[in-house]
Formats: sequence, C-alpha cells, structure tokens
Amino acid sequence: MRIDRDANPAHGEPGDEWFAASKKIYPMAVHGRFRKIKWTILILTLGLYYFLPFVRWDRGPDAPGQAVMVDLAGRRAYLFFIEIWPQEVYYLTGLLILAAMALFLMNAVAGRLWCGYLCPQTVWTDLFMAVERWTEGDRRERMNLDKASWSAGKLGRKASKHFLWLMIAWWTGGAWVLYFADAPTLVKDLATGQAPMAAYAWIGILTFTTYALAGHMREQVCVFMCPWPRIQAALTDEYALNVTYRWDRGEPRGSLKQGLKRQAEGLKAGDCVDCYQCLHSCPTGVDIRKGTQLDCIQCGLCIDACDAVMEKIGKPKGLIGYDNDQNVQERSEGRPAHYQLLRPRTIVYAALIAIIGAVMLYALVTRSFEGINVLHDRNPIYVKQSDGTTRNGYTIRILNKRPLARDFVFGLEHMPFGTRIEVVGAEGEVGGYPIVSVGPDRTREFRVLLFSPLGADMPKSTPITFRIVDTRTGDTARADDYFKAE
Ligand code: SF4
Ligand code: SF4
Repeated sequence: MRIDRDANPAHGEPGDEWFAASKKIYPMAVHGRFRKIKWTILILTLGLYYFLPFVRWDRGPDAPGQAVMVDLAGRRAYLFFIEIWPQEVYYLTGLLILAAMALFLMNAVAGRLWCGYLCPQTVWTDLFMAVERWTEGDRRERMNLDKASWSAGKLGRKASKHFLWLMIAWWTGGAWVLYFADAPTLVKDLATGQAPMAAYAWIGILTFTTYALAGHMREQVCVFMCPWPRIQAALTDEYALNVTYRWDRGEPRGSLKQGLKRQAEGLKAGDCVDCYQCLHSCPTGVDIRKGTQLDCIQCGLCIDACDAVMEKIGKPKGLIGYDNDQNVQERSEGRPAHYQLLRPRTIVYAALIAIIGAVMLYALVTRSFEGINVLHDRNPIYVKQSDGTTRNGYTIRILNKRPLARDFVFGLEHMPFGTRIEVVGAEGEVGGYPIVSVGPDRTREFRVLLFSPLGADMPKSTPITFRIVDTRTGDTARADDYFKAE
C-alpha cells in the first residue's frame, strides 16, 4: 500500500501538499448497500452506548443493580452476571488481546473494516455529517452556503448545526460517566447540581473532544492522528480485500459521449464515465481511482456512489468493489480472479481468537468465589514463648466474591499434630478450628497466630498451607506460607 498524497485533493497540489492547509471536504449523501450497513451499525453501536447504563441487573441488596458498570469506589467492574475484582484484571488483558486479534483478522480479510464501519471516530463523524446534511443540505448546498456572505438564514443554519452537534457531544460525555455510577441516580444528581465535580469535569472534557473530533477534525483524525493506518499497512498482504477501483474494467475513462465516440472508432471505452461521484461521496476526500491509499478508511461509500451511476447508465455494478490489486491485474491479463480467504495469517489469527476465547471462558466458568491472601509478620518473624513453643504471626485476608454472607472454617495443613491456631476476631470455632464470617462481596482481614506443639522440635522453616472451607457449600481456598522457628 502506498501513501498517495497527490491522489488526495484534500491535501493540495503536488509539490506543496506537505505544508498546505487542508481543504474542506464536502461529502455528498449516498444510498446503497454499504450505506445501509453503516446506518445499521451506527444505530446499534450508539444505541448500545447511550442506553446500556440504564439496563438493570439484580445482584441482591448489597451490589449495584446496573448491568454494566465500573464501580471505582467499590473497586469492582460489573458486566451482567460477571463481576470482576481488582485482582482479576487479567480478564481485561485477555479482552484487549482478543480485540487486537480481531482487528488483525479483520485487516487480513478486508483491510480497514474497523475504520470504515466500527471505529467510534467514524461512527460519530457519520452522525455529525448526517446532522450537517439535515441543517445545511447536501454537498452542493453546503459548498454554496460556505461561499455565501453572512445572512440570517446562513447564521440560523450554522447555529442549529453547532447546537445539535453540541447536544450530541454533551450526551456522549454524559453517557460515559453513567458507566461509573448508578445511572438513574447520577442523572438526577447531575440535573440537580449534586453530582460529584469529577462527573461534570468528564462530561465537559468529552463534550469538547466529541465536538472537536467528530464535528471539526473528522478525516484528519483518520489520516494524520491515528496510528492504525500505518500499522495496518505493515500487516496487510496482497490478498486482503480493499475497496478497489477495477481499472481493468473502468479504463480508459471518459464521459459517456467520449466513450461512444471511442467505440465508434473501434477503440476500447472503459466503464468509468469520469463523473467524480466516487470522489464526492468520500468522507476522506480520496479518489480511489488512483489506487489504494492510506487515507481510505474502506467505508464502501464510493462503491454505493459508483453503483448508482452504473445503474443509471445501464452497466453492471461493481466497478468499485472489495477486491485487491492482484485480481485486477489478473483480470486485465485475461486470467480469472483468485480470492483466498483461508491463508496462514487468517488461520493463525482465527485460531488465536478461538484459543484465547476458550481459555478466558474456562477461567471464567471455573473461577473461584473465595480466596485467601497471607502475609507473614516481618518483625519479629517468630517469637519463642516461655513454655518453649514458637509463635508465628500472620495477616490473612479472606475474599468472599458471592453476593451473600458466608462462614468459613480455618484449617491448617502440613503442621505437626497439636499446632494451635488462633484467629483474632473469629466468630466461634468447631473442633478447635476457628470460624469466621465474611460479608457479601467483601474482603475481611484477620490477625492469625500459630503456636507450635508443646515439646516439638521445629525445623528452621516449615512449609504450611492455610485453608478456608465454606461451612455451607464446602468450597475451599488455600494459600501457602512458612512457619519459621529460627
Ligand atoms: S475511497 Fe471509498 S472506501 Fe475509501 S474512504 Fe473514500 S469512500 Fe470510503
Ligand atoms: S463513480 Fe464510478 S463512474 Fe463515476 S468517476 Fe467514480 S469510478 Fe468512475
């Protein structure tokens, strides 16, 4: 893939393109298959983003009733039936690796699919452009409006556009903070001025960034700021399906009249009628006929624009389509196109997604709902008692990840018979073993003392295992440590 700056009229004339100010792009409205797909994805993704915080999920009286929420104060993340504790942040790592693999797979199959359809920058820019078209009209009208001198009409249109943009941006920032607190309560607090300062600050920051990025910077983010096009270009291969102008079919291009003239002269006339509809529909200002370019986000809108032209002039659709340069070359030399979806890289990415997904699922299904962390006293490491026994002290934290209070019996493994265990704050004991209670979805810390048996000759260091057993379910957790005697 090459960086064809000359191909992009948004970047000025060849020679001065590197330092020229960007020219404003006025993409025209298009209708067709890919536009419909983009609308569908836009509605689904934005609908999900804006309304998900209001979906309720009953986790009992001691946990938030919001389906998706990051509870920073409580140090928990909730995703429907899944509750993630801080020490389980590896799930997030797994999700990020999965997302990266999915991105690589998309890229190997069809280039910048993510950029064209799913990237938040694309989705919000699409929405902002729809508002722009609604308030200022389509491409030609907007160009004329920008050229026209200021009037009440122009002011009204511009003001309505910016007002609606700001409202969307504000709601975007507002929706974001709702993921960090109980949404209905926070909405009330925000409206009555009682929400935390951080909530207002984040709404302000996100309102500004959404308005700036989706309203004003648009394609500049994709072309100049985002690193993905560069990475993507290094990862792609000749079989990936990119939005491609099939020059074998389109060239030599020319108006309909010129085409007819060429045909009358017995010369080949391409299907491209040089109408510039593909260029005028492009949100990044790319003329795809100049070849695959980094600026192209693979949104497919030029395909729709060109298909509409082909339909009008009675030619088969698909002069621009998801294809690759290799196939265009093959066809131009009279050989059939060759599509190869299954290739080593697509197989490896798909396999990695399946393996990582399976490992994560296994870890999720078999995760334990109790845990025990042990910290041995540092100073003193051990204490010789007047009766000859040795005492070791520990700070033990017990985790109860279930939404109900639980009782655990403390146990000890690998210490000689007669070892005494004392838990400060224990609720009771059974057979000499202390019982402790831990509240729902809580951790509780205990001071634990171990006394070696009377008369036992303890080695310098004895590996031991602390054990807790749920008195009701028998669920068990263990943690290893040492008993020090010298
Ligand atoms: S060239 Fe076509 S696919 Fe690429 S960004 Fe422009 S409209 Fe989208
Ligand atoms: S829209 Fe199609 S016919 Fe028109 S200039 Fe682009 S490629 Fe040629």
